[in-house]
Amino acid sequence: MSRSHPDADGKDVPETAVRNRSQWADTLHRPDPDSDEPKPACVEPDYREDADFTDVPVAAYPHYKLCGNPECFGSEWW
Ligand SMILES: [Zn+2]
Repeated sequence: MSRSHPDADGKDVPETAVRNRSQWADTLHRPDPDSDEPKPACVEPDYREDADFTDVPVAAYPHYKLCGNPECFGSEWW
């Protein structure tokens, strides 16, 4: 039924991700489960204070990269 993201091979990717509203954004992040507002689970917003994040369906952004941070869709640190 739901299409998975091309980069999602073998990864636990939720149906909904978070993206920066910026037109330059090209990365999907895992939503922060502890935040009421759309916010990446990784440290991305900590050094982009002006960033404005929004919820989006992962399947709608197959051309976006999945964030490589371990908190999002990356592998564990080796
Ligand atoms: Zn991230």
